[in-house]
Amino acid sequence: MKTDRFKVPAGGQGFSLEACSTNDTTGVADKSDGKKLLENGIAKLAAIQDVLYAHDQYGVLLIFQAMDAAGKDGTIKHVMSGINPQGCQVFSFKSPSAEELDHDFMWRTMRCMPERGRIGIFNRSYYEDVLVVRVHPEFLKGAKLPAHCITDDIWKNRFEDINNIEQYLVRNGIVVIKFFLNVSREEQLKRFLKRCDDPTKNWKLSSSDAKERKLWDKYMAAYDDMLKNTSTKHAPWYVIPADNKWYTRAAVSEIIIHRLSKLDLHYPVLSDKQREELQMVREELVRES
Ligand code: ATP
Ligand code: MG
Repeated sequence: MKTDRFKVPAGGQGFSLEACSTNDTTGVADKSDGKKLLENGIAKLAAIQDVLYAHDQYGVLLIFQAMDAAGKDGTIKHVMSGINPQGCQVFSFKSPSAEELDHDFMWRTMRCMPERGRIGIFNRSYYEDVLVVRVHPEFLKGAKLPAHCITDDIWKNRFEDINNIEQYLVRNGIVVIKFFLNVSREEQLKRFLKRCDDPTKNWKLSSSDAKERKLWDKYMAAYDDMLKNTSTKHAPWYVIPADNKWYTRAAVSEIIIHRLSKLDLHYPVLSDKQREELQMVREELVRES
């Protein structure tokens, strides 16, 4: 699968979210082909993650943003299913707590950055502060910002701050990969109805989900502007068609593998002294056996 086709050009030139397909399946023949591709990807990612951990220099930050029921949880669950749990961490960011609101908007996520050797997953992220908060500007009041910080430039300023922080992370060995799962309004409706009708899925639907759905166009405008302004060379966004779950998962898996394969990852190589020490340990163990 060619992964560059999902990438939002740096600076957003010529990009329009409206023009992005939600149900494209290019590169994957059908559902069973998608499942095979994913299975292959799960094994490859497990192997890469083993070296990433041993190499212990890069950290990986995967960011997932989407409308409700676009498949963030399922994608994370399936794509990461082969990974050693010790090398991976997932954080979900919901409405901020009082403690979180007492800090700058990046604070809660900055504390959760992956350490070297680890894959850190953000299920929602600081991007909510230019999405849901932009759709509901009244939330800014709860954020306890001084009045002079709330100007017409606030979103532009936040984009700039986010780009700078991501640049900082990349300069410090953190690979930043950002996914927007692009589900259609019709498919979301189908999935919401399924959540209503299936008792094992009832818990996944809340009344606020239906309320936010009514603000679909506002959300799309906020996403469009965010994607244009925060897709950079160092931390690009990938817009993934999300009406077919099997396609979303295969595409996300391929992109992660493609990006991590470009790193100079290798198992640590022992120095002559370390090799000598290892040899001595071995001889001692052999004598014991
Ligand atoms: P699911 O797909 O299972 O519903 P979810 O990620 O939507 O998972 P929810 O329990 O619905 O999880 O909670 C997330 C909610 O919190 C979203 O509506 C999101 O917009 C909101 N949220 C996240 N960050 C912020 C923020 N900074 N300010 C206000 N609301 C936020
Ligand atoms: Mg939700």
